[in-house]
Amino acid sequence: MNSTIPALSAKELHKSYPSKSGDGKLLRILEGVDLSIAPASIIAIVGSSGSGKSTLLHILGGLDKPDKGDVFWNNQLISSMPDEKIADERNKHVGFVFQFHHLLPEFSAVENVMMPALIGGQKHGEATQRAMYLLDRFGIADRAHHRPSQLSGGEQQRVSLARAMMNKPSLILADEPTGNLDETNTESVLSELFSLRDTDQISIVLVTHEKEIAARCDKVYEMRHGSLEVLE
Ligand code: ADP
Ligand code: MG
Repeated sequence: MNSTIPALSAKELHKSYPSKSGDGKLLRILEGVDLSIAPASIIAIVGSSGSGKSTLLHILGGLDKPDKGDVFWNNQLISSMPDEKIADERNKHVGFVFQFHHLLPEFSAVENVMMPALIGGQKHGEATQRAMYLLDRFGIADRAHHRPSQLSGGEQQRVSLARAMMNKPSLILADEPTGNLDETNTESVLSELFSLRDTDQISIVLVTHEKEIAARCDKVYEMRHGSLEVLE
C-alpha cells in the first residue's frame, strides 16, 4: 500500500438527530468535521460526554451515515458506496474496539478472533493460524478456548484487539477501549495499541476521556460544538 495515502480522511461531516422531546427540533451533533490521519499515527479524540465522539467514530467506520459530507478509507470514498460494498470494505480495512468488548458470548476467544476472516471467506485453517498468532502476540494464547464470560476485562479487551487485527486493517477505531479497565490492564492494552502503530504501521483513532492517555498520542483533537479542534 502507498504509505503516503491517509488510511482515513473525512470532509465536512454533518449529523443531526431528532430531539428526544418530540418538539420536531434537531440536535446538531456534527457540524462540519474535517479530519485526516497520517499513516502509522495515532490520534486521540477527547470531549465531554454527549459531544458526539461515538457518533463520529460510527460514521468514520461506516457503521452510520452522515447527513452530509464524505469519508475516505485509503482515498476511497465510502459515502457513495452501496451498503454491501461498505460492509465488505470495512471488513478488509477497518478494525473496531469498543469500551464493552462486543464479543459473541457463545463462541470461544479464538472463534471470536477468527470471525472477521471467516466472514471474508478465508479458509478455516489459515484463519485459525492467524487468530492463534494474534492471541499469542497479545499474551492470551492460553485463553484461546475460553468463552468471553470466562475471561477478565483486560483479557476480553485483548481478544477484541486481536479480532480487530484479524484482517490486517489499515485503520483501527477504538471507542474508550480502556474505559472499563484498571490501571494495569489499561497500560497493557495501550501498549498493544502503540505497538500496532509502530510495528504494523496502522493508523488509530482513540476516543478517550483521559487527558494523560490523549497526551501520549501523536495528535489530540477535542470534539466541541460539533467540530474538532486541534489541542496539540
Ligand atoms: P459521546 O460519545 O461523545 O458521549 P455520542 O456520540 O454518543 O456522544 O452522542 C452525542 C449526542 O447524540 C447525545 O446527545 C446522544 O444522546 C445523541 N444520540 C446519539 N445517537 C443517537 C441516536 N441514534 N438517536 C438520537 N440521538 C442520538
Ligand atoms: Mg461515546
